[in-house]
Amino acid sequence: MLDTETISAADQLHDGTREEKLRKLSRQAEHCTRCDLYENATQTVFGEGMTDASLFFIGEQPGDKEDIAGAPFVGPAGNIFNKCLEEAGIDRSECYVTNAVKHFKFRLRGKRRMHQRPNAGEVQACRWWLNGELDLVRPHLIVALGATAANSIAPRKFKVMRDRGTILPFDEEYALLLTVHPSYLLRVRDDMALQRELFVRDLRTAAQFVHEAAKESRRNTGTNGAGRR
Ligand code: SF4
Repeated sequence: MLDTETISAADQLHDGTREEKLRKLSRQAEHCTRCDLYENATQTVFGEGMTDASLFFIGEQPGDKEDIAGAPFVGPAGNIFNKCLEEAGIDRSECYVTNAVKHFKFRLRGKRRMHQRPNAGEVQACRWWLNGELDLVRPHLIVALGATAANSIAPRKFKVMRDRGTILPFDEEYALLLTVHPSYLLRVRDDMALQRELFVRDLRTAAQFVHEAAKESRRNTGTNGAGRR
């Protein structure tokens, strides 16, 4: 667990495999009322992916499309994320992808639901689930996409734009890499091609790190990497 002052949802699960526990957490999160965001959203959008993934991506919160689909990163930002992962040689199906906050926060403009950034209290309330996911997946590397994800997990001394793209000294259990949220690539007006290139570069750094970590793990265990945890 990352924050000693935050109890993890995984602490209350005793029986079952990692997959079963993650499924159980996901079902529990469907009924979460730890903050007010459940009131207006369609549904909880829990993380998904490989349960023993080396790479663990954290975004901000589900968007309009994710809220309807019930899955993370399936909207426009998800599309560009998928393309950039592919360019960086990362198979999304081998990663775990989630958000700092599991319900869509928005305000209405006419009939349109406009994204609103979750506040610190909402992010903190949702750490219960994020810590649970991390405790069960136990990745080699956490990649925080954007400032909300970074603030949800990293000490305040780290800043996305200053510290992005390097493996940060962080925690005894996990390494951390900060980069921008893929939605930034949709919003940026100048240098879109350059910003996209920088994002892919950050993803390649992440891929290289977990590749090296897997090699190290194989050397230590004398296996093909299974049982690294
Ligand atoms: S945003 Fe997180 S903490 Fe708030 S109600 Fe939804 S699942 Fe619970």
